[in-house]
Amino acid sequence: MGPHVHDPRTGEILESDIIWYHNVMNLLRNWFFIQTAAINPDARSVKFRNEIMGRLIRFVSAHEVGHTLGLPHNMGSSSAYPVESLRDPEFTKRMGTAPSIMDYARFNYVAQPGDGDVGLMPNIGPYDKWSIMYGYKVIPEADDYEDERLTLNSWITERADDPIYRFGRQRFRPTDPSAQTEDIGDNSMKASEYGIANLKRIVPNLIEWTAEEAKDFKDLNELYNNVLGQFRRYLGHVTANIGGIYEFNKTYDENDVIYTHVPKERQEEAMAFLQKHIFETPEWAIDQDILRRIEEDGNMERIRRLQEGALNLLLNPDRLNRVIENQTLNGAQAYSLTELFTDVRSSVFTEILNGGNIDTYRRNLQRTTVDVMAGLMKNQRNEFENSDIQAVARGNLKVILEAARNYSNQQDELSAFHIQDLAERIDMILDPR
Ligand SMILES: [Zn+2]
Repeated sequence: MGPHVHDPRTGEILESDIIWYHNVMNLLRNWFFIQTAAINPDARSVKFRNEIMGRLIRFVSAHEVGHTLGLPHNMGSSSAYPVESLRDPEFTKRMGTAPSIMDYARFNYVAQPGDGDVGLMPNIGPYDKWSIMYGYKVIPEADDYEDERLTLNSWITERADDPIYRFGRQRFRPTDPSAQTEDIGDNSMKASEYGIANLKRIVPNLIEWTAEEAKDFKDLNELYNNVLGQFRRYLGHVTANIGGIYEFNKTYDENDVIYTHVPKERQEEAMAFLQKHIFETPEWAIDQDILRRIEEDGNMERIRRLQEGALNLLLNPDRLNRVIENQTLNGAQAYSLTELFTDVRSSVFTEILNGGNIDTYRRNLQRTTVDVMAGLMKNQRNEFENSDIQAVARGNLKVILEAARNYSNQQDELSAFHIQDLAERIDMILDPR
């Protein structure tokens, strides 16, 4: 990151530095390993060859030099490329993994074994060259600032329909799924599906690929936790589609709107992804060979926390209020709040609704879900307390309570105890005493 000293009257950059943290190389090792090792033998060790680490340092340096020249992050860049083109060696070699080095577009986690020699990272791209032209090219025919502004705007409108030149701002909790950090491609569900397929290939090889003679398992531990961190990122990218709103900046002369809701089908696609990958237990991530080398216990709580994080993100009150507003404005064309809760309920409480034993991971998930819904009921911020959120949370808890009272299972005592406990907990939430 390069802090600037600039002239506030003109914007001219007078001074700029790049600060290089001591652990950037470690960060690069972790990202490159986790995102590409499934297809890339160069990333299958705890220490990369100098040529590889040199290339990675060049990647970060180019981004930081962009900052010193005045370029901000462009988190909307990577969504210009269709997911499938990221599997194409010719395309990725020519275009990199995003049109701008100023996105947080990481390494090519989409490409699959057998795709061939694909490009693995972003380069200085067409967006970067164009924005340098925008910022630095002299416009001699312009008499004054106003004149210059109109010329600059004409450069923007000429490229307005080309996603390669799109700018998407950085936000802490993105509402626009096409402007996210750490993602690549134009569809979070497709890209993340490929990403998870690659994580599933890495986990069984992790011990071999992190092996170092006469060393302990510190790197195995670190990279295993990075696998789960990357998995969490994919869940976040997908969740942003639910209650998502695209932001494509425009000026008056473009005669179009800026904000559009993410289409219903895409929000349903996102929910189906969450049902499959996080409400169903992610068994692939639980590997006894790894666990028994890095910790005496902690697996159950790690999985529960992953699921809790995904639930809190999904049932974030700001997101839910956007879902309600979309439904209010667009009716049946919107993915509604009741659909959202029904989809969560049916995949989290499946055994209670349909019968069957409930295993440890699922019991933990069910208690956690009730807990997150209880949190919604207790939220006293005005815009949440007086929106539909608490009504829908209460309604759903009642449905779950009813199903729990009707649940009967003679075979598994623990499942039966769990259901009694769950019903009692819901009772206390609905009727605190
Ligand atoms: Zn940056």
